[in-house]
Amino acid sequence: LREFHFKSDGKAAFIPGQYALMTLPGVEGPRAYSMSNQPNDEGDWCFLIKRVPGGVGTDYLFDDLKKGDKITLDGPYGLAYFREDTDRDIVCVAGGSGLAPLISIATAAAYHPAFQNRRIRFFFGGRGPADICGDDYLRLLPGFGDRITFHSTISVPEMDPNGMWVGPVGFIHESVENLLGDDLKNYEYYIAGPPPMLQATLQMLAMKHKVNVEGIHFDRFF
Ligand SMILES: Cc1cc2nc3c(=O)[nH]c(=O)nc-3n(C[C@H](O)[C@H](O)[C@H](O)COP(=O)(O)OP(=O)(O)OC[C@H]3O[C@@H](n4cnc5c(N)ncnc54)[C@H](O)[C@@H]3O)c2cc1C
Repeated sequence: LREFHFKSDGKAAFIPGQYALMTLPGVEGPRAYSMSNQPNDEGDWCFLIKRVPGGVGTDYLFDDLKKGDKITLDGPYGLAYFREDTDRDIVCVAGGSGLAPLISIATAAAYHPAFQNRRIRFFFGGRGPADICGDDYLRLLPGFGDRITFHSTISVPEMDPNGMWVGPVGFIHESVENLLGDDLKNYEYYIAGPPPMLQATLQMLAMKHKVNVEGIHFDRFF
């Protein structure tokens, strides 16, 4: 994942968790990217973008975009934004390029006056140890290690040939289920990542454990 920063003339107006459509010179069709920072009056937009092998948009962003270049941002869009009107603790479930919106949501909650006593459990799933990221951002938040915790899981143990991984092995939705157990129904959920991860997490929460879908928020990544 690489951080990209853009500056707009007007405010960066969005709710944490939302995304913008990026139109890049010479790339046909817009690409959706979630903001990883907080809304601000200075017009700062920050994105965490994962390179997709052979991807036209990410090839442009990683290889051709230069400091000072202009692109078009259209937004904000998306329904998986931070809810302030709930008294539940928060669970974020991320995989791959789904990190950005959930970092934005966790940051908003960490500093929100009404959320000072809330738990924020941040789950991140990757194939191997090299895929795991996000704790660098969470470590900066007040309450990290105490009411804010990071839980990572790898699904392909062969990607840890030297046996350095000490965390759980399996799919990230299994880690959520194992850790929260009977408490699963007591959280507000934000999910972002590859479609199979989203599907498996939704199935576990809504179908298997009958968690109320009104408390589960996601935008489909494709
Ligand atoms: C809501 C949402 C939020 C996302 N947030 C992030 C994020 O924060 N970070 C991140 O790394 N990725 C994010 N993505 C994925 C991102 O939008 C891109 O799909 C990804 O970067 C790959 O783009 P690419 O151009 O490199 O790959 P490509 O395979 O070239 O294109 C990817 C997608 O772009 C669309 N597309 C391709 N060509 C055209 C065309 N001619 N006209 C219109 N559409 C076209 C298609 O949907 C295609 O599947 C998000 C996706 C969604 C839907």
